[in-house]
Amino acid sequence: MTATAPREEQLWSRCAGCASLLYRKRLRRNLDVCPECGKHARLGAPERLRQLVDPGSLRLLPDRLPEADPIDFVDVLPYPHRLTGARASTGLAEGVVCATAAIGGHPVVLAVMDFRFLGGSLGCAVGELITRAAERALDDRTPLVLVTASGGARMQEGALSLMQMATVSQAIAALREAGLLTVSVLTDPTYGGVAASFATNTDLVLAESGARMGFAGPRVIRQITGRALPEGFQTADFLLRHGQVDMVVQRRSLRGRLVALLAATRAGRPARPPVPRQEPAPRRERLAEDGAALARPAGPAAGAATPAAGDTPAVRDAWDTVRLARHPGRPTTLDYLDSVFDGFVELHGDRLGADCPAIVGGLARLAGRHVMVVGHQKGHTTAELVARNFGMASPAGHRKALRLMRLAARLGLPVITLVDTPGADPGVSAEEQGQAAAIAENILTLTVLPTPVLAVITGEGGSGGALALAVADRVLMLENAVYSVISPEGCAAILWPDRSAAPQAARALRLTAPDLCRLGVVDEVVSEPSSAAHDDPAETADRLRAALLANLLPLLDVPPAMLVRLRRQRFRRFGANRAGARAGLR
Ligand SMILES: [Zn+2]
Repeated sequence: MTATAPREEQLWSRCAGCASLLYRKRLRRNLDVCPECGKHARLGAPERLRQLVDPGSLRLLPDRLPEADPIDFVDVLPYPHRLTGARASTGLAEGVVCATAAIGGHPVVLAVMDFRFLGGSLGCAVGELITRAAERALDDRTPLVLVTASGGARMQEGALSLMQMATVSQAIAALREAGLLTVSVLTDPTYGGVAASFATNTDLVLAESGARMGFAGPRVIRQITGRALPEGFQTADFLLRHGQVDMVVQRRSLRGRLVALLAATRAGRPARPPVPRQEPAPRRERLAEDGAALARPAGPAAGAATPAAGDTPAVRDAWDTVRLARHPGRPTTLDYLDSVFDGFVELHGDRLGADCPAIVGGLARLAGRHVMVVGHQKGHTTAELVARNFGMASPAGHRKALRLMRLAARLGLPVITLVDTPGADPGVSAEEQGQAAAIAENILTLTVLPTPVLAVITGEGGSGGALALAVADRVLMLENAVYSVISPEGCAAILWPDRSAAPQAARALRLTAPDLCRLGVVDEVVSEPSSAAHDDPAETADRLRAALLANLLPLLDVPPAMLVRLRRQRFRRFGANRAGARAGLR
């Protein structure tokens, strides 16, 4: 091979900020920050690692996982083709690179996301790799540093990608419990499911200069509100001003800042001998066994409630189910509080300045037993829906839910959540008030809550807003409810030529109760009367009460520490190693 001269375009690149033509080598020497305008160009994970860690200290963690296409997703291209393309163009196995290394002599475990790989989307493999990195940090007793860059959850993996928010969050929770520092470094862009979980539920949150972070993306917010966004919306400085990050750091200072933080948190802590690391193989086997035991609890096959006599087993198109789940006559949380429970006493407020009408909660009795019920509230009329913000909770709503769930744990009461939301509030003020962090804190707290938690998807289970109430010991789902990482319309707008493909997207997303039961996301389907819940609310209520009791009573005898352990096992099994789950989806 003869060496060929590099092509002109490889030597020069144009700044996305000021359009200056920059000599590539000079730009790289300047850490990919434009010397003219200070614009921080996006970095791939390998270059980010090179900039952050001590030379010679980097040891990459394994990144090969079994091929995962857990729901056989096809839009205009089959998902495996998109994966192959991303691998070819980035040279990476997945959208995150994990490693052990030293930063200023301090040993750390790092997980660095790469936006070039399918938009840094959080799928089962990415969730599994970050979770393993966090588990390695726990074993090694070192801090965990996460560098985030993501458009959100990977919709081609459906609700299983949504579950990764819980899986990684509980690994963060375990580091919290062990007194080990977790740091996230937000880089541009960090959105959706990543923002609403491990990007913001770490001990320290740093934003790189020029980073933008939020729960809802600017395009979605503009579409929904129909208004222009404020100047600088969701930028690092905006996040700092609204109390959502500890600091904004220029790229050239990032490594030094991490060194200082790592040094400060290590100071004064007695040196502990390193805990010998367990061999990975036996631990994974044990988890697999526990997972299998949890996946198929004793009871009716596949957990499906036995249909009452006269019901015909419904084989409905997914899009028809979406429409039923959104039917305005469908019973709401307040309807169920009236029909399924007794003596509801509503409790209000987040104690920080607001009371969100889209979340209702309080004390109630279920067949004589005291419980805490928290749920999304929609409504039957337009006026009710508007007053309840269509069941889309604000950060205050998530904080009210959190307050009530913690109160329940202190009082020794089980928590029952009723999930019915198109998603968390995607408005401007929700972003200003920290929607992403509010959801993230709920998810993390539910993974450690020392009391039984039972969740029911009663209508729409819309992405992170639904999961904020649905990290539970048992997850039930009404027959005509849906639970999805993204709305079919939103998915169609991104992956198909236009939103009219929503019915196809609904089928591809596997968002119905029977599909989610087969995937293990849901434990039991609660059957509805022959047409649907809104045609016979009383019968629906009877069936829901029976299912709640059947699932709650066995949990009451389980010691809290064991409950939390089993709950974590439940959410730990949504990793990439799930080839077996596909068989049932044909
Ligand atoms: Zn520039």
